[in-house]
Amino acid sequence: MAAYKAPLRDMRFVMNELFSGTTLHQLPGYEDMTPDVIDAVLEEAAKICEQVLHPINRSGDEEGCTYENGVVRTPTGFKEAYRTFCEGGWTSIACKPEFGGQGMPKLVNSMVEEMICSSNLSFGMYPGLSHGAYVALEAYGAEELKQQYLPKIVSGEWSGTMCLTEPHCGTDLGMIRTRAEPRGDGSYAITGTKIFISAGEHDLTGNIIHLVLAKLPDAPEGAKGISLFLVPKFLPDANNEPGQRNGVMCGAIEHKMGIKASATCVMNFDGATGWLVGQPHKGMQAMFAMMNTERLAVGVQGLGLGEASYQGALAYAKDRLQGRSLTGTKNPEAKADPILVHPDVRRMLLTQKATMEGSRALVGWVAQALDLANHHPDPAVRQESEDLVALLTPIVKALLTDLGYEATNIGVQVYGGHGYIREWGMEQYIRDARIAQIYEGTNGIQALDLVGRKMPANAGRSLRRFFHPVAEYLEAKGDDDEMEEFVLPLAKAFTRLQQATGAVAQKGMVNRDEAGAAATDYLRLFGLTALAYLWCRTVDVARARLAEGANGDAAFYEAKIKTARFYMQRVLPQTGALFSCIMAGGKSMMDFADDEF
Ligand SMILES: Cc1cc2nc3c(=O)[nH]c(=O)nc-3n(C[C@H](O)[C@H](O)[C@H](O)COP(=O)(O)OP(=O)(O)OC[C@H]3O[C@@H](n4cnc5c(N)ncnc54)[C@H](O)[C@@H]3O)c2cc1C
Repeated sequence: MAAYKAPLRDMRFVMNELFSGTTLHQLPGYEDMTPDVIDAVLEEAAKICEQVLHPINRSGDEEGCTYENGVVRTPTGFKEAYRTFCEGGWTSIACKPEFGGQGMPKLVNSMVEEMICSSNLSFGMYPGLSHGAYVALEAYGAEELKQQYLPKIVSGEWSGTMCLTEPHCGTDLGMIRTRAEPRGDGSYAITGTKIFISAGEHDLTGNIIHLVLAKLPDAPEGAKGISLFLVPKFLPDANNEPGQRNGVMCGAIEHKMGIKASATCVMNFDGATGWLVGQPHKGMQAMFAMMNTERLAVGVQGLGLGEASYQGALAYAKDRLQGRSLTGTKNPEAKADPILVHPDVRRMLLTQKATMEGSRALVGWVAQALDLANHHPDPAVRQESEDLVALLTPIVKALLTDLGYEATNIGVQVYGGHGYIREWGMEQYIRDARIAQIYEGTNGIQALDLVGRKMPANAGRSLRRFFHPVAEYLEAKGDDDEMEEFVLPLAKAFTRLQQATGAVAQKGMVNRDEAGAAATDYLRLFGLTALAYLWCRTVDVARARLAEGANGDAAFYEAKIKTARFYMQRVLPQTGALFSCIMAGGKSMMDFADDEF
């Protein structure tokens, strides 16, 4: 399996040079988060990911999880790795200190998440789901539930799940059939079947806390009638230790394409005892607290796997000898040149590099905005940041999982036949990456969220949080000749995005199928333009550092500028084709009668 080395230099660049990593400690609540503390956290995270999680990534894929009479076993080494992970405090870094967490900024946490996803996505699913459960419970749970469950989830002693999907409904949760009957003592009896539940059953923790969507007897029809319940596998005893077994069992695990070491479970609730989280019939609101966190985290999964694939592909391209350079032998001592000399191989590697580094910058931007939304003393800054996060969340989820999947696919191509066989682990990255485009709301649904909800939200206020800074940036850079090669392509893409926004909004108002038909292309156009903006800002920083002497790091900044150039010339032009597709409208799809397909 290809080696993995956490890209700490680039992470520090994104955090500290492009965004506000070095000043995080000035925000209330983050006083301890000085640059040296953050640096130490990243170094330690890199160690556990490279030395503990990565070595069991391929064996976990080969072995998978096993199921026997309701018991699920994770692959060899997972239990030990999970213990090390908890002892290192990694389940708690983004949780509040009052529940035993370390209260780390999102900017730091998202970099750690990326390393976990690169090194072992299957493993990362277990603490990842727990964190989602933590977020929903912390935001909406009654105080008693929080005190009872959160410290155990934060320490990693207990894990969490999110139980939404049922056999007949995934996207359309309004149709769920799981019922919750009040017992008259404050608890509820939960009955129903959930499928595809990640980490629904496993052997890593002493208890598993399910957050379950169900309907109360008096629930209104549809999504407005859904409530959220906390259902533990074991009911806590008087000492808050796992006590009596609750009426929830794993009926089977799925055999699937990727993330094979992550148990995907059928969960049967048979009059299981549960407690309401949040208000009756307002479960979707509480679930959204969890889903928004998870959506960003799933975007980071795409980035993590794309990065891992890039690292493998680059090492291989330097090593593998095939053919001669078109412009003359580069490696005369050997019978062939390394495949890195070939323009087509460079095209593949640079596509991976430019899209993954751009994606990391986008994650950094959104993570910084989340930190500002949660910690900045000025309410206006908090509001602005919240708007930006809301707008960019579907883009991070869908664009980064699409680009990440594409990058893993390229990784196999760079290896040729050796990428297709299992030995090198490159095909595993593709299989693992594929699910990220599907769960947490498919990418098609993210695109509908962008055009249907985020675009018109607050009379376009969220949209302006992106459009204004980009327009101001273009205005400021108008006379900078040295930046022209970067700024002009950004300006072109931005004009396309503005025109497409107007057209989608206008046509969508007359006929909503028009907005639906444009949504996926529009999201990609938006996302690629956002990456172009971040690449321009990256070049600004790199140029400034080089002008100051670059402190021995000139090669890094030169590479940033060259990668930005590749992005502008070889990736961003996709926006032209996307624009044409969007403007063509949806008639060519909707004209088909169902029986004409
Ligand atoms: C490995 C794995 C892990 C998972 N983990 C969890 C978990 O932990 N908890 C959980 O609750 N669920 C989980 N899921 C379920 C996952 O979230 C769903 O599969 C996903 O939401 C899609 O639902 P579905 O499969 O029913 O597809 P469907 O909803 O049937 O969608 C099928 C297709 O139709 C499209 N479509 C559907 N409705 C619309 C619409 N209104 N407009 C446009 N297009 C539409 C979709 O985009 C998709 O392409 C997991 C699934 C897998 C495979």
